[in-house]
Amino acid sequence: MNLSNMYQEVILDHYKSPRGKGLQETFGGEAHHVNTTCGDEITVRVQLSEDGNSIKKISYASTGCSISQASASIMFEQIDGKNLTDFNKSSEEFLAMMQSKGKFEPNEDLLGDGVSMIGVAQYPARIKCALLSWMAAKDAIIRAKGE
Ligand code: ZN
Repeated sequence: MNLSNMYQEVILDHYKSPRGKGLQETFGGEAHHVNTTCGDEITVRVQLSEDGNSIKKISYASTGCSISQASASIMFEQIDGKNLTDFNKSSEEFLAMMQSKGKFEPNEDLLGDGVSMIGVAQYPARIKCALLSWMAAKDAIIRAKGE
């Protein structure tokens, strides 16, 4: 099995068995994002820790294509419980990878299963699908911080 097939398996697995899907009742910030070109939608809720420095709990509800759904599951797995510095690093790494047209050496420590999305970066029409959940999470965090 080559790398590209393996990555497709990872994406398919997240799509079929999404991690952390389902909105939590308690949250400090919420963001709803829509990818109009594809029809993907996501709502992300974030509860920050008392000191405001880390993500105590993140949850989401989403509908859409396999890329957007898998990306939301991967995002959850990678950032739930992380501090905001780590979230920013992962989020910036993911954005850089998606804007790289696939010419990128992704940092697996920062992205986890997100490295499987590198192939998507070669398809401009699908980049928004992959970025949707990360952008919504970023917005939800900003709202949770009350900025
Ligand atoms: Zn999509």
